[in-house]
Amino acid sequence: MSWRAVDVEKLISEDHPARAIWTLVGRLDLSPFYRAIESSAEEGGRPAFDPQLLISLWVYAYSQGIGSAREVARRCEHDPAFQWLTGLMEVNYHTLADFRVEKQAELDELFTQVLAALSEEGLITLEQVTQDGTKIKALASGRSYHQEETIREHLQQARQRVAAMGDPRNDGSSPKIKQAQARARRQQQERLENALEELQKLQARKTGEKAKREVRVSTSDPQARVMKQSDKSFALSYNAQISTDAAHGVIVGVAVTAEANDCEQLLPAVDRLEQRLNKRPKQMVADRGYTTRKNIEKMAGRQIDFLGSMRYVPRGANLPNQLPPSAFIYQPERDRCVCPQGKILHRQRQRNVGHGMTYHVYEARFEDCQTCSLKPECCPENKKHGRSVVQLEESPLVMAFRKKMASEEAQQKRPCQRTRSASRGKPCLGHRPFSWWLNRIRNQSRPGFRPAPGARNSPHRR
Ligand code: SF4
Repeated sequence: MSWRAVDVEKLISEDHPARAIWTLVGRLDLSPFYRAIESSAEEGGRPAFDPQLLISLWVYAYSQGIGSAREVARRCEHDPAFQWLTGLMEVNYHTLADFRVEKQAELDELFTQVLAALSEEGLITLEQVTQDGTKIKALASGRSYHQEETIREHLQQARQRVAAMGDPRNDGSSPKIKQAQARARRQQQERLENALEELQKLQARKTGEKAKREVRVSTSDPQARVMKQSDKSFALSYNAQISTDAAHGVIVGVAVTAEANDCEQLLPAVDRLEQRLNKRPKQMVADRGYTTRKNIEKMAGRQIDFLGSMRYVPRGANLPNQLPPSAFIYQPERDRCVCPQGKILHRQRQRNVGHGMTYHVYEARFEDCQTCSLKPECCPENKKHGRSVVQLEESPLVMAFRKKMASEEAQQKRPCQRTRSASRGKPCLGHRPFSWWLNRIRNQSRPGFRPAPGARNSPHRR
């Protein structure tokens, strides 16, 4: 064992990010945090940690991809940056975890303050905001996913166990063990009651007895839903929605939802930005998942320039061995199409393909195509009918959107491949997509987690 003097100020360099985080947090209004720990002459209390310290610790930990309170507490013992922030004090992981859970509203307000400060510095302009979602797997096993009957059975058993807690015949263990067992049983009962409540909410959305019976929820994480993952598998997950100011890649809005689809998340994201920053984004960029007719019309109604990606023709219309539909000219005044050979394609029928979309099918006469010299390129496989093309029925706003997206200007505003993640709505922290950080934080929270060999590489390099 040896003793040595440590100069805390020299633990980290002058330009270390921990110093910048400490200074930034010190500039924020932390009065709601201080009010909660103030003591009076009449009422004393235990000494409390300075909120600036706890907030700075968490901000720095997140910037390093650490989301576990135990890991932060461990780092405080040996990591110079964490030691500098704490001034070599020991911080218990309970303190860290409780602070994060209990101060959610205050931390949310702090996030608004940080964004306001960045906005004042001109780092948030909302000239262009990208929106995207990423699925985060819940820490719930598929085996906890049950129907109503099973949940009710488990709940009844849990209630019986809680009721039996006061029975003197079960008083064999030490008081500490009894206390822990009682807490675990009560928590299990609470979880099952929450699951039942959530299940009833989902049942209310269903019609038909069979559909209601088949509804299932997880008893360990009732709010999680089964969602399709990027690898095409299904897992109990949440959908994290992230809005990023494209100018400097700053995340300006985050929400977690149990809705698997992104299409209903665009307007709430705009509302969150307006509410938090008191400002409306000028342009929103999102991918195909958000580009619905409803969103296009709503964004136009709010006078926000929306850039998205929309399929123009139905699947299968652009067959590789056929002339493309763009070779046919549509004449709206006469509601017909003209083929490259000057033959007329008349409207024959219409197809409703869901999501409010209707396609009108225009078909050439069989006799015209049979004798046509272009048939081998136009429709070589048509043996019984002439060539057909489809026209999509659209509202004027959607037509204008399609026209805009086909323009060179809109194509230029689309992100280049290098910054694809950040500007197409895949917000990045550093050079890594946000989903990478979220998964890292989630994995690190698992007991016994060890990064896989090569896990330090970003997904871009895999
Ligand atoms: S095959 Fe029919 S539709 Fe195609 S170019 Fe010839 S006439 Fe026109």
